[in-house]
Amino acid sequence: MNKKGHVLNAVLLSIGLGYLLEPSGTEETFVTILMIGVPVTLGALFPDVDTEFGKHRKTLHNLPILVAFVGFPYFFENLEYVWIGILTHYVLDVAGSKRGIALFYPLWSEEFGLPVGVAVKSRMADLVTVVVTGVELVVAAIIIYRIPQASLELGGQAIGTVLG
Ligand SMILES: [Zn+2]
Repeated sequence: MNKKGHVLNAVLLSIGLGYLLEPSGTEETFVTILMIGVPVTLGALFPDVDTEFGKHRKTLHNLPILVAFVGFPYFFENLEYVWIGILTHYVLDVAGSKRGIALFYPLWSEEFGLPVGVAVKSRMADLVTVVVTGVELVVAAIIIYRIPQASLELGGQAIGTVLG
């Protein structure tokens, strides 16, 4: 995808995440959208820096880069949420465009993509971006709402087993 597609994806995703995390629709929702939206949008723009530095869709489009951004906040207590932008950039390139990304670079230069994308300059690109964002939000909703519940149930069962 081009920069416009990545910004559209990041902004829509952040609005959706804001409502998932703070469904009230009050000021808190908008503060959450702003808090998440700025770092996510910056993160979503970052991988394509490799059009100028390094090899495009390789140097900054791989799992080691994602892991580095996931880990960064734990060590330095900043850049939280930037990894969400990096991840959604990868997802959009893999699922939304014809060319894939080199997930295992620099170990392996093979580019991986799904056979469902459209050409970056296609008129369908915006529609595909919105659809991919929708799927991401469904996954996010399942993670946000289901996993705590599932782990609570598991925890409850474990406690029940111990006490029973
Ligand atoms: Zn890219």
